[in-house]
Amino acid sequence: MRIDNRDHELGMDRAISRRDFLNGAALIIGGTVVGPPLLGATPNADDAPEKTPGYYPPALTGMRGNHDGSFTFAHGLRDGKKWDATGAPENTGETYNLVVVGGGISGLAAAHFFRKRAGAAARILILDNHDDFGGHAKRNEFRSGKRTLIGYGGSYSIETPEPYSEVARDLIRELGIEVSNFPKYLDRRLYSSSGRVPKIFFDKETFGVERLVDDPYPFPGGETYDLAVPGPKAWEHFLAEAPIAERARKDFYDLCQGRKDYLPGLSREEREQRLAHISYARFLTEITGMHSDVTRLYQRISQPLFGVGIEAIAALDASEQGYPGFDGMGFEATGLADERKYFFHFPDGNASIARLLVRGLIPSTIPGHSATDIVTAKADYSRLDEESSPVRIRLNSTAVRVKHVGEVASAKEVEVTYARGDKVYVSRSKNVILACWNAVIPYICEELPEKQKNDLCLAQKVPLLYTNVLLRNWTSLQKLQANAIYAPGGYHTNVDMDLPVSIGEYKCTREPDEPVVLHMSKGACHAGLSPREQYTMGRIELFTTDFETIERKVRDQLAGILGPGGLDPARDILAITVNRWPHGYAYEYSTLWDSAILESGERPCDRARKPFGRISIANSDAGAHAFTNAAIDQAYRAVREVTKR
Ligand SMILES: Cc1cc2nc3c(=O)[nH]c(=O)nc-3n(C[C@H](O)[C@H](O)[C@H](O)COP(=O)(O)OP(=O)(O)OC[C@H]3O[C@@H](n4cnc5c(N)ncnc54)[C@H](O)[C@@H]3O)c2cc1C
Repeated sequence: MRIDNRDHELGMDRAISRRDFLNGAALIIGGTVVGPPLLGATPNADDAPEKTPGYYPPALTGMRGNHDGSFTFAHGLRDGKKWDATGAPENTGETYNLVVVGGGISGLAAAHFFRKRAGAAARILILDNHDDFGGHAKRNEFRSGKRTLIGYGGSYSIETPEPYSEVARDLIRELGIEVSNFPKYLDRRLYSSSGRVPKIFFDKETFGVERLVDDPYPFPGGETYDLAVPGPKAWEHFLAEAPIAERARKDFYDLCQGRKDYLPGLSREEREQRLAHISYARFLTEITGMHSDVTRLYQRISQPLFGVGIEAIAALDASEQGYPGFDGMGFEATGLADERKYFFHFPDGNASIARLLVRGLIPSTIPGHSATDIVTAKADYSRLDEESSPVRIRLNSTAVRVKHVGEVASAKEVEVTYARGDKVYVSRSKNVILACWNAVIPYICEELPEKQKNDLCLAQKVPLLYTNVLLRNWTSLQKLQANAIYAPGGYHTNVDMDLPVSIGEYKCTREPDEPVVLHMSKGACHAGLSPREQYTMGRIELFTTDFETIERKVRDQLAGILGPGGLDPARDILAITVNRWPHGYAYEYSTLWDSAILESGERPCDRARKPFGRISIANSDAGAHAFTNAAIDQAYRAVREVTKR
C-alpha cells in the first residue's frame, strides 16, 4: 500500500483489525484456497478448516459478506470452467434424506420444516459456499478490551411491507422470539434524552459546503419505535442552514408539511395507477413542481431499501414507504402502521434467527435454550459437520452439479457434487432443495428445462454494501448531537448508530466514552439506467473494489462528518468490517419496469420455482421478495413438495 500524507492523517497505516485473521495467523482467502488447513482435506477430516481451533467467522474483519473464496467455483461455472478438470469427484459414500444447497435462512428453515415432517432421525446435509452459515443474515463481532460488540453484517430486522404469513409467524414463535416483547429490550429514550437526533450531512463536492443539519423528515418509513423522530427545532434548523436553494428549502417544507393533494380530481384508483407508472423523481419535479435541489437532496434516499435512486422507483412504492408528498392524497392509511409493529431487531440482526435455527438442528453447536441467550452464545463451528449427527452443515462447499441418478421421472436419488478446497466430492440424497440463488441454479442443474432456466436467470440480485466500523468511543456523535446521518453525496449514504437494544447478557453502549459499532450502508447504483442494468454495474463495481479503497472512503467520510465533533480517524477507528453483497436482495418486480409481467398474472419467479423430479426450489428469490418471511415461506412450500413425493 502506498501511503501519502492524507493517508497518514486518515490512519491508513494504522494497525487496526482490518484484515482477515484466524487464530492469530493471516488466513489466505482467495482463489480456490479457503484456508491452508483445507488443502487435501476430506469433508470429515479433523483438519478441515471448521475444525481448526479458533475457527470463528463472525469475528473476522476486513472484506466479509460475499467474501473472497466463496464465489470462485460459482463464477467458474458461469465462465464455462470445468469443475471436473482435476479428475472424477471423490465419492463420500454418504446418503441423505435431504440435501439443501444454501445455508441462508431459507435453507436452514427448509431443514427445520423437513425434520418436523420426516422425524428427528432424518439425515440432512446443508451445503453453503461461505465460511459461515446464515447467508445474508450475517453476524459481525468486534473486541474492544474485554468487551464484545455485535453488529449486523446483513439482514437487520424482522420487518416487512407484507404481513408475515402464519407459517413464518409460527416459526418465529417456535424459535422463542416474542416479537411483541421487543419494546422491553429497547431503550427508546436513550437517544432523545441525550439530545441526539437524525441529521443530514451536506458534503462539499456535491453541495459546495460541508454542513451537518438537522433532518426534519428522517428515515422515511423507518419511524419504528419513535427513534427516528426529528429534533425539536429540526425544521427551523433545516430552513436556516441547509445549503440548497432557498426555494428548495421552502418547497421541501411544503412537500413534507403541506398535506397538499397533488392529483386533485382523480379517484383513488386513478391516483394509484398514475403513481405506479411514474418515478418518484418525476413525481417530485413534474407533479409537485419541486425545485431541482429537492430531487438532488432526495436522489439517494431510496438506496438502502431499493438499491437504486429515486429516478428508478415508482412513486407508489415511495408513498408506501412514507416518503414525503402523499399525506394529502389519501395514501397515509394503508394498514402498514400495524404491520410495522411486527418488528424485532437483534444486535446481529436476523443472524440470531439463523443461529436459533442451527441450534435447533444441531444442539451441540450453540449452547443455551432461549432467544435471549442466543445473542451472546458462542457457536462451536467444529460441531457443524459431525458423522454422529443426523443434521450436518458443511461450509466452504459450493454445489457444482445436482443431477438425478437415472431418468428424472423414475429416479430414486439425486447426486449432489460440490467443490470444497481443492477437491470435488459427491454425495447422494433422496431429495434436494435448492435454497441458493435462482440465478445459480441453471449452472448447477443442467437437466432443467431451458424455459425454466431462463426464468431462473431473471432473478437478478440487488448489490449493497454494509460496512461496520468499530470506534474507540462516540463522543464525536454526542458532541454533534447525531444518532443517524443521511449523506446524500457520500460514498456511504447512511451512517448510523444501532438501535439501543440490550437482550440477555448483551448490553448496548450507553455512555459516549464507550466503544461503538457504527453502521454505514451504500447501494451500488448507477442512475440513468434501468434497475437491472444498475444492478449488473453495481455488482461489478462491488466485486472489483478492494478493501483498501473502501477503507480509505470510510476514513475520509467519517473524518468529514465526525471530524468537527473531534473524531480522529487515525486514532479512533479500531476495526472495519466491510460486508460486500454483490448478490444482495432478491429482485422485486416493479410497476415502473415490469408492468407487463405484473399485468400478465404470472411472474417469472412463479414458473422458475416449479419442482423438477426430486428437486425443489426455495430461497427468497423464489418469491421475488427480499425479506425473511419470503425465505421462510418458500422453504415451507419446497418442503411440502418434497414430502408429498
Ligand atoms: C444487506 C442486506 C440486508 C437485508 N436486510 C433485511 C432485513 O432487515 N429484513 C429482512 O427480512 N430481509 C432483509 N434482507 C433480505 C434477505 O435476503 C432475506 O431476508 C433472507 O435472509 C434471504 O435468505 P435466503 O436463504 O433466501 O438467501 P441467502 O441468505 O442469500 O442464502 C442463500 C445461500 O445460498 C448460498 N449459495 C448460493 N449458491 C450456492 C451453491 N452453488 N452452493 C452452496 N451454496 C450456495 C449463498 O451463498 C447463500 O449463503 C437483507 C438482505 C441484504 C443483502
